[in-house]
Formats: sequence, C-alpha cells, structure tokens
Amino acid sequence: MIDFHCHLDLYENPTLVSQRVVAEGLYLLAVTTSPRAWAGTRALFASLPRIRIGLGLHPQLIAERYAEVDILCELVSQARYIGEIGLDGSAEHLANIELQTRVFRQILSVCAKDGGRILSIHSRGAASAVLDELERCPGAGVPVLHWFSGSRKELDRAIALGCWFSVGPAMLRGEKGLTLAGAMPRNRVLTETDGPFAQERNKPLMPWDVVLAEDRLGKLWGRPPPKVREQLLQNLQTLTVPQS
Ligand SMILES: [Zn+2]
Repeated sequence: MIDFHCHLDLYENPTLVSQRVVAEGLYLLAVTTSPRAWAGTRALFASLPRIRIGLGLHPQLIAERYAEVDILCELVSQARYIGEIGLDGSAEHLANIELQTRVFRQILSVCAKDGGRILSIHSRGAASAVLDELERCPGAGVPVLHWFSGSRKELDRAIALGCWFSVGPAMLRGEKGLTLAGAMPRNRVLTETDGPFAQERNKPLMPWDVVLAEDRLGKLWGRPPPKVREQLLQNLQTLTVPQS
C-alpha cells in the first residue's frame, strides 16, 4: 500500500502510527507544512523502511510564515521530495494569493536549478494558477497533484503537462472526485490519505486507510484490489525525476 501524502508528524501519536506503517509494509511520503518541521520529522522517521519525508511550506501558512521560504530553499539540496507546497485559492486564503505565488515560484525555481524534485502539490481553488507556475518552470521536477479538485479541462491540461496525481478516500467519496480520478492516466496515479486532516466517518484517516482508495479505484477501473495495488506499486517504481 502507498500513502503518498500524509501529515505523519501531525497525528496525536506519530511514533505509534509510524510503527504500524512499518509493520503493514506501507510506502509513505510524510509531507511537512513548514521547513522547520522537516528536520524533526526526518530525525524521527527517515531511518524507517519505506518512509520518506517531504520538505514543505503549506500554502495555507504563507500569510504568517512566508519568510521560511528562504530556509526551505537552503534545504532543497538535501531533500529528494518537496511538499506540501502549492497554492490555495479558497476564500480564506485568496487575499494572499500573490504572496503564495511568489513563494511557490521561488521554490519551483530552486528545485529546477538543482535538477528537479518530486513535488507533492496542493492546488485547492487554484488549479489553473498552479498549472501556470508549473508551465513556467518545466525543470522543477515531477509534480504530483494531491487531492486534485479542478475542472475537467484543468485536469486535461495537468495531464498534458506531465502531472501525476495522488487520490485518497475523501476525494473518491464524491461524484466529482470519482469522475476526475476516472479520467487520470492509470500509470500516473498514486494513493494518499492526507491524514490526519482528511477524515472518514468523522475520524482522521490513518495511512493504512488507503485501502479504501484502492477499493474505490478498483470499482472505477473495473479491476480487483490486488491488481489495483500491483498497478500502484508499479507506478511508484517509475516515479523518478528525469535526468536532463
Ligand atoms: Zn496535505
């Protein structure tokens, strides 16, 4: 199983969660919301098998923490995965979208200068704006759009730009998410939970709940769960930054 976008450090008891992640044999990308959290998260979990740590600065924190972009940029050389980064155009965060865009652009350009990275990207209410930035900076690496909620047209544009997608149980609950997921190239799809933020039945999703996403993808693809898992693991193996 794969949880490619999980806020492992934000669970009530991250160590306990990480122990079960290891026991279940999950592949997990622990994204961070600020570069200050990256070092601590790395110290706790980076030595565990199949767990990787993303260096991030969440767009919803930009208003207070934009200055941390400089810390992030200095750490890029040490990180293989970058995230959670991106843009948030929802009502609550739209006021600072310009600042968010400057920060996102700066991160992408540092990644590009250093050969590109695998990027876990938030694009709520800002899919077109995120795609504009990715298009401006094609060397930034491989964008994995997490919980994509743009329009069908924006999805087609993302696919044409080479984006990957991580989809979770929460996204696959509704009709819109299912329709989008059904249109994504199967060889560029990964599963995620976005736990503990994303929930199922009023409880935070746990990394092993990606099984729910596998089930829903299976129905969508008309394939049995073991075949879905096989496809997802194959996808993960091919997810690398192309050498320029
Ligand atoms: Zn997230």
